[in-house]
Amino acid sequence: MRFKLQNLALAALLAMTFPAQAAAELTPQEDAQTAADIHAHMAFLASDLLRGREAGTVDFDIAAAYVASQMEQLGLKPLGGDGKSYRQPVPLLAYRAADPGTLVLKDAQGKVEPLKFGEDYLVRGSPFGAAVKKSAPLVFAGFGVVAPEHGRDDYAGLDVRGKIVVLLAGAPKNYQTEERAYYANSRTKAAVALGHGAIGVLGLDTLTGEKLYPFPNSVRQYQSWGVAWRDAQGRPFIPSPIPSLGVISVAGAAKLFAGAPQSAAQILAAAETPDGAIKGFDLPRVLDATVNSELKEVQSENLVGLLEGSDPKLKAEVVVLSAHLDHLGLTPPVDGDSINNGALDNAAGVATTLEVAKLFRTKPKAPKRSLLFLIDTAEEKGLVGAEYFAHNPTVPAKSIVADVDLDMPILTYEFTDVVAFGADRSSIGPSVKKAAGRMNVQLSPDPMPDEGIFTRSDHYRFVEQGVPAVFLITGFANGGQAAFADFMAHHYHKPSDDMNLPLRFDVGAKFARLNYEITRELADSPVKPSWNQGDFFGGKFAKP
Ligand SMILES: [Zn+2]
Repeated sequence: MRFKLQNLALAALLAMTFPAQAAAELTPQEDAQTAADIHAHMAFLASDLLRGREAGTVDFDIAAAYVASQMEQLGLKPLGGDGKSYRQPVPLLAYRAADPGTLVLKDAQGKVEPLKFGEDYLVRGSPFGAAVKKSAPLVFAGFGVVAPEHGRDDYAGLDVRGKIVVLLAGAPKNYQTEERAYYANSRTKAAVALGHGAIGVLGLDTLTGEKLYPFPNSVRQYQSWGVAWRDAQGRPFIPSPIPSLGVISVAGAAKLFAGAPQSAAQILAAAETPDGAIKGFDLPRVLDATVNSELKEVQSENLVGLLEGSDPKLKAEVVVLSAHLDHLGLTPPVDGDSINNGALDNAAGVATTLEVAKLFRTKPKAPKRSLLFLIDTAEEKGLVGAEYFAHNPTVPAKSIVADVDLDMPILTYEFTDVVAFGADRSSIGPSVKKAAGRMNVQLSPDPMPDEGIFTRSDHYRFVEQGVPAVFLITGFANGGQAAFADFMAHHYHKPSDDMNLPLRFDVGAKFARLNYEITRELADSPVKPSWNQGDFFGGKFAKP
């Protein structure tokens, strides 16, 4: 889509009329400049010329060259790894479905029932090879959650060794939102399934899931590329090597559960209850699954720049600000448009992060701790660039004390509250409270727990390495709820997430300032960020 010129005029107008904010360190002039700069970054990064910045394409590389240039202009120290460049090469294995594959149910008498692609199921590509074939009995294991602190074991009484497990998407609704996201995460589920001896996972959509992400949308994108990062030996990093054999739709569930102890309708209804109490069972039929994939090795990169701290001691500690630069690239068209420009997701987050760096550069008082700006690749493919950095940091791993992630701020209304994912789990919480308080921004609980947001952006890869992290989304107050509903329903991961959205660059400036204030607190605090005693994620991932 073409960039609309009236947005430029709007930005100029906003820049002139942006009101002064109480008790903030920055002047209205600085805010106006930040708003204009955010517009400028986004207009370039989300332009049709960059064709959606997909990781592993030259389109992404052009965006990366822009960011490297910006980092140089900001005077950041290049920390890509070779001492000279901002670029940290990230070797990737890319894979996608070569065709719809086949899923066939077989009963004891040899009667076969093929499932219908696009209606009953969809597949995604597999990193395990060009053709993955599995034939094994099916076992339904509920959500596949094993959570001793809730007294829950969805595998209790089941023998899944050598079998294919059918797992409902998500996790019980009454779990705390970030812990629910952890249990709902496919990586957690894969580890548990593998640990129990299963040889494949077949996903099962829920009513809630398809309400948020309609099945036809997922089918439209089934041939999108996935990636895994490759290690020094060239091997793809796959923490739990168990293949996903496809996802069964709500419509297809009836076929899958025909003749089973419980009907699909009963299971799907139980999944919607607060405690999602569902007992697993053996399904009467065997699944023959074939997943055909196209694989290729590609190269991408993270951009890494450092702003050195001013305190002789504390500067050895590093606060990371992360934002993903990649988006989805080209997909089958929607309303004649096939370019997924990713204006809010995540040109907005990159623009904001660059402006946070600029604010620190222009303030006379340098931060005490060092700030590392990580503009990363392949987030849309599973937080892959951030994971590559978290496993291969260009500063000593132990020096990384916190991560602040910026991803997809909804800049179409003036937020007056934010949700700070992860904040209450560590000493980052009080810092966020102070910073938000300075700006008269309220902190709100997660209004969208079904989304499982906590494990869906780059900060989570730092959490998995034991680093406390925070990820802000703008809140539901002051028109936020309607703005989110509209964006998620009509623009999220669609070509219309572009510069034709009614973007508020003044709000972008406000979001930049809030993240600046939070980062300032974390960088200057006399004590380094740490997990709260007994925290769920600290307990799982913190390193001694
Ligand atoms: Zn996204």
